[in-house]
Amino acid sequence: MLENYMLAGKIASTVRENIRKKNHIDRTLLEICESIENEITLLGGKPAFPVNVSLNEIAAHYTAEPQDPIVVKDTDVIKIDLGVHINGYIADTAVTISYDSKYDHLVDVAELSLSEAIKISKINTKSGDIGKTIENTILHNGLKPIQNLSGHSLDQYTVHSGKSIPNIRTIGSSFSLTNNQAYAIEPFVTTRDGLGIVYEGKIQNIFSIVSRKPTKDRDLDDFITYLWNRFKTLPFAIRWLIKDYDETLLNNMINFLMKKKNIRSYPILVEGNNKIVSQAEHTFLISEDQNYIITK
Ligand code: MN
Ligand code: MN
Repeated sequence: MLENYMLAGKIASTVRENIRKKNHIDRTLLEICESIENEITLLGGKPAFPVNVSLNEIAAHYTAEPQDPIVVKDTDVIKIDLGVHINGYIADTAVTISYDSKYDHLVDVAELSLSEAIKISKINTKSGDIGKTIENTILHNGLKPIQNLSGHSLDQYTVHSGKSIPNIRTIGSSFSLTNNQAYAIEPFVTTRDGLGIVYEGKIQNIFSIVSRKPTKDRDLDDFITYLWNRFKTLPFAIRWLIKDYDETLLNNMINFLMKKKNIRSYPILVEGNNKIVSQAEHTFLISEDQNYIITK
């Protein structure tokens, strides 16, 4: 398990640092997603979910459509969130990129609150204390955390495996970090005039299987089997499927399977006051003696 995590983390951090160095202005979101996913594959990993390329007030869950025409502008703030898995063991990491220095503070505070949170994360650390540290760091820097986005535990083939690590102080229940468990911490930061809450938008282009129960339609059952064989419970994008299926047919099948609750979608998440959002994320593995930041 440890070797799989370490390799996934090494690939994820290598790819993330290449993204950070590169100039993305005038590139399409499609080109960015595909080049990152190709690089993950070339380095020997598999994408654990479609690369998220969320612009400005979109906090998370946008990935490129099959012919996505959107181009990055020099005024954009872009969150690139990527996952790599080796045999289902997932490294989840994110970076925010901007080309206008007026956003430097917003970007830096996401990174700062992440590093302050990681500093206190050891075996038995309470999730509530991590949330408090993240919130304090962000507020002391004159910005606002997004309250309803959080970090999470990760398990084999499961990106969000049940435990949430808050980005704010919380009332009541808190859990303690445990041995041999992977966690991701991911603060999201907005400006003081932001609402600090995200809402689901209309766009949904990331999906995953939630149930393999048969549908009474042979073609749909075959499609579920195909998705299961390729992705198990991990998220996927339409553009990953268009080599094997007609796009209109795909959209129809996915809509039908969503109604049947075989498939769920991950709608884009938009800042409540449409203010700009930044993000930083690392995955780490807790052991008795230390905290391995696998995406360092
Ligand atoms: Mn992520
Ligand atoms: Mn995550």
